[in-house]
Amino acid sequence: MKDSFGRDITYLRLSLTGRCNFRCKYCMPEEGIEKLPREEILSFEEIVNLVRAASELGINKVRFTGGEPLTRKDLPGLVKMVDAIEGIDELSLTTNGSSLSGVAEDLSQAGLDRVNISIDAMDPEVFAEITRRGELSSVLAGIEAAKRAKLDPVKLNTVIIKDVNESEIGPLMEFAAAEDLVLRFIELMPMGEAAKGAIESLPLNKVEKIIKRKWTLEEISGPQGNGPAKYYRASRRNTSGKVGFIFPLSRSFCDDCNRIRITSRGKVRPCLARDEEYDLGINENTSVDVITTRLRKIIEEKPYGHRWEKQDTTAGEMSEIGG
Ligand code: SAM
Ligand code: SF4
Repeated sequence: MKDSFGRDITYLRLSLTGRCNFRCKYCMPEEGIEKLPREEILSFEEIVNLVRAASELGINKVRFTGGEPLTRKDLPGLVKMVDAIEGIDELSLTTNGSSLSGVAEDLSQAGLDRVNISIDAMDPEVFAEITRRGELSSVLAGIEAAKRAKLDPVKLNTVIIKDVNESEIGPLMEFAAAEDLVLRFIELMPMGEAAKGAIESLPLNKVEKIIKRKWTLEEISGPQGNGPAKYYRASRRNTSGKVGFIFPLSRSFCDDCNRIRITSRGKVRPCLARDEEYDLGINENTSVDVITTRLRKIIEEKPYGHRWEKQDTTAGEMSEIGG
C-alpha cells in the first residue's frame, strides 16, 4: 500500500531478537545487556500472522535481522513458515555469519533467498577488537557455507571506524572480489553505541578515496536494490568486483523509502531515523485481520523522513530495532 506521501511500502525488516553473541563496538555495550524474557519477543506464530497481515497490505519482501537472528532456535522452521505465505516473493537475512556454516543449507532449502553478512575486518585481531567476542574464522566459514548453499546474492556489510579498521578496506575489497561477493560500506548511524560519541566512523567519501588508490571505480547505473545504496564496478589488474556505499545520513533517500521495521517485541518503527514506535499489541490470539487494520493505520501515518542531518541522535538500539 502507499503511505500518505505516495510511497509504496513493500519491504518489511523484522528483528527476531535483541540478543547477540557479538558486542560490536558501534552497536552494543560490552556488558550489561538486559536479557528479554523469551515470552516478550514475538513467537513464530505471531511473526507468521504479522507477515500475513503485511502481505495483505502489499509487502512482498521480508528481511530477518536482529540482534543476531541465528540465536533464535530453529530459524529454518520460521523461514519455511514465512516462505509459504502468499505474496512474499523474497525472503532474506542479515546476520553476523558466525553460526551460519551449520545452517546455511537448511535455510536455503527452507526458502531463504539471500543473505547479508556483516564483516568489518580480515585481520582476526582487528575483527576481535571490533566484535569483542567474535572469531573471524567462524564468519568466513559462514560465508563459504552461504555460497555453497546457493544463497544469492551473498552481500557483505562493513562499517569502517576511524583509526580501528581503516587498514581493512583493502583486504576486504580483495577478499570480496576474489570470492565474487558484493561488498557494501555502511555509513555509521547515530544510534545505540554510535550515538554516545566515543566512536567516530570514517566518512564514506574517505573510504571511496582509499579504494581509488588501488581500484578503478565505475558507477553502475540502473536499479540499485531496495535502499539508499550506490554501486560501482571496481577493477584492478585482472580482478573486478562490485562495491556499494550506503548513505543513510549524507544522502536523503526518504523520497523513495519503501520500508517499515518491526522490533522483536512487535513494535513498528516506521522510520529508522525517528523515535516513533507503535506497539502492535499482538499476542497469539490476535487475528490477521486485526493486525492488518493496525498496521494499515501505522503505514498511513509513516512520517516523511529523517532529521539526522541536524546532528540529532535517535532513540533505541540498532540491535533491538534491527539494522
Ligand atoms: N547481527 C546481525 C549483523 O550484524 O549483521 C544483524 C543485525 S546488525 C544490527 C545489522 C547491521 O547493522 C550490521 O551490518 C551492522 O554493522 C549494522 N549496524 C549496527 N549498528 C550500526 C550503526 N550505528 N550504524 C550503522 N550500521 C550499524
Ligand atoms: Fe550483534 Fe550485529 Fe550488533 Fe554486531 S552489529 S553487536 S553482530 S547485532
